Amino acid sequence: MAAKVKIMIDMMGMTDHLLICAGETEALGKLAERAGQAAAWGPPAAGPPRAAAAAPPAAVTAPAAPAAAAELYPAAVACGACGLEIELPSPGNWKCPRCEVVLAARADGSVSFSLPDRRPPLELVLWGAPEAVEGLKRFAAAVAERVLGNGQAAALLAAAVEEVARGIVHHAYHDDATRIFQVAIEPGEAEVQVQLADHGSTLDSSQLASYFPTASSRLAAFECRPHPRGGNVIRMVARA
Ligand SMILES: [Zn+2]
Repeated sequence: MAAKVKIMIDMMGMTDHLLICAGETEALGKLAERAGQAAAWGPPAAGPPRAAAAAPPAAVTAPAAPAAAAELYPAAVACGACGLEIELPSPGNWKCPRCEVVLAARADGSVSFSLPDRRPPLELVLWGAPEAVEGLKRFAAAVAERVLGNGQAAALLAAAVEEVARGIVHHAYHDDATRIFQVAIEPGEAEVQVQLADHGSTLDSSQLASYFPTASSRLAAFECRPHPRGGNVIRMVARA
């Protein structure tokens, strides 16, 4: 470590909080030592974060616990929707604490999940940073390519989403890129719907073709209406 940096650390009174090593090898050795002492050190384990103990579910109906079930419960099961490990105290209907899917646990130990037919839309809250608009465009393209195939329809939707996001920042927010807008992307059977909602100036409905030339003319559906509480809701649908 450079002597000047060491002096600065001393000046800030940080010496007690920092472990200073002579080189990379020693530092890695110390980290490995600590990893042995506390699991919190070192890189996180692969996969989504999990509670240390199985998560307790929420009761949906008052569980009945016949005597036969006593040996089988509490039982740990993996949620059929999100994979979270849930500890079921007794038979009954329970809700996964992470994704809220409802599951029925029976006295014989079997568990069934009532998975929803329709998934909720993919939702984002963004502000008008260029990287956010670019990221939204790629996200819409990824969803559209999976549903519509890697062709013209997906490329068109991505271009339309980018056009509308830029248009909202420019026309509804007057280039104030710090204002936020909401996006909901709904993949369907053979179509993808994208909705953007802002809280800016209501857009002039006679100007939509010039604000959004691609989105307003080339998609399967395009609609821009004033939001009841101010701003606009723009809905777009692309089909294969
Ligand atoms: Zn779940």
